Amino acid sequence: MNLIDETHDPARRSWIDSANGHAAFPIQNLPLGIFSTASRDRRIGVAIGDQIVDLRGLAEAGLVDDRWLAALVRPTLNDWFAHGPVEGRALRRLLSDLLSGEAQRAAVNPHLVAQADAAMHLPCAIGDYTDFYVGIHHATNVGKQFRPDQPLLPNYKYVPIGYHGRASSVRVSGEPVVRPKGQRKAPEATAPDYGPSRRLDYELELGMFIGRGNDLGQTIPIGQAAAHIAGYCLLNDWSARDIQGWEYQPLGPFLAKNFLTSISPWVVSPDALAPFRRAMPPRPAGDPAPLDYLSDDRDRERGALGVTLDVTLLTKAMRKAGHAPHVLSHGEAAAAMYWSAAQIVTHHASNGCNLMPGDLIGTGTLSTADAGGLGSLMEISAGGKAPLALPNGEVRSFLEDGDELILSAHCEAPGAVAIGFGECRGRVLPAR
Ligand code: MN
Repeated sequence: MNLIDETHDPARRSWIDSANGHAAFPIQNLPLGIFSTASRDRRIGVAIGDQIVDLRGLAEAGLVDDRWLAALVRPTLNDWFAHGPVEGRALRRLLSDLLSGEAQRAAVNPHLVAQADAAMHLPCAIGDYTDFYVGIHHATNVGKQFRPDQPLLPNYKYVPIGYHGRASSVRVSGEPVVRPKGQRKAPEATAPDYGPSRRLDYELELGMFIGRGNDLGQTIPIGQAAAHIAGYCLLNDWSARDIQGWEYQPLGPFLAKNFLTSISPWVVSPDALAPFRRAMPPRPAGDPAPLDYLSDDRDRERGALGVTLDVTLLTKAMRKAGHAPHVLSHGEAAAAMYWSAAQIVTHHASNGCNLMPGDLIGTGTLSTADAGGLGSLMEISAGGKAPLALPNGEVRSFLEDGDELILSAHCEAPGAVAIGFGECRGRVLPAR
């Protein structure tokens, strides 16, 4: 797993000029996504610089292995992801060769589309979506608001906590978030009422897509879990905190979460992330070791993701005044996951639950240990007790109508070309 090869070579350049030095999509990244244009219906593409390579076009022109044709002409990535990591790596090598070798330019050129001319769609037909809670600083910060003496419940350090989310309302970046309505009950109120959420929030997360699945009744050993992950994206688990606070006991989040989940359109492969892997953060003294089925030396040494996450906010007033988005958080929150991606996958299947190609899994909100990289407004404003002052004089405890939230991510490491995930955006519209 996670081999470094010629596709990561920092000296490798593309004949597509915009790729060289591109902050997100140099030739060392090559993320897959689903796009369409006025003349091309939904199909698989690969991002390179400010362009997209039409993979279906390449496949139909005979430029890829015949064995891959059936999966690469589909309008979703499910069938391709089911091919697994060996074929995924082979396609990456082929694309890297085609896009770096000047000799291939004439053959590939007809299959290039400017990203500016394309609409992006969900990468997969998502059968199931599960959201975890592995950001330990977020779990601690939120837990403190409810239980100052015992922020983390006793199961947290044994169980990668998760809940089943809703797949039908997962949408790609750019989908507006219509302010949800629901039952809200203020602590001092005797009864709830129904109306627009007053505490609309976001959650900064990474998403991962399942590649090969597992049969019902079968488990995924921890040593094989990484081979079931097809790639990663940004994920915003929009959350209505007032609805959540009233409904969450005893069965967990429901209508507070399932009105919309936004993801970034490009799926960054485990191969692209290989140079940015690092050791899992050491467990604090006194924490229990993971149970055997969640324990793997290689995962401990390489299971953390060196991904820097950024969140910015652009209010309606800022947009009107032409101001730049305000940075809400910045930091290496992904490296602070208490449970690795592999541990999440293994735990999910540990009872025989079958994961399917194209299933989406969220990490849970990712916050840094310090105040600079908090992954939700609930943390930034301390549940509304400490509203955030914006440079233009506005204040925010939670999101207001017209606010636009932008998640982004990039990876840097010595000796590697930096790559990025692109963006996950959403603007708040008034309740309907
Ligand atoms: Mn979440």
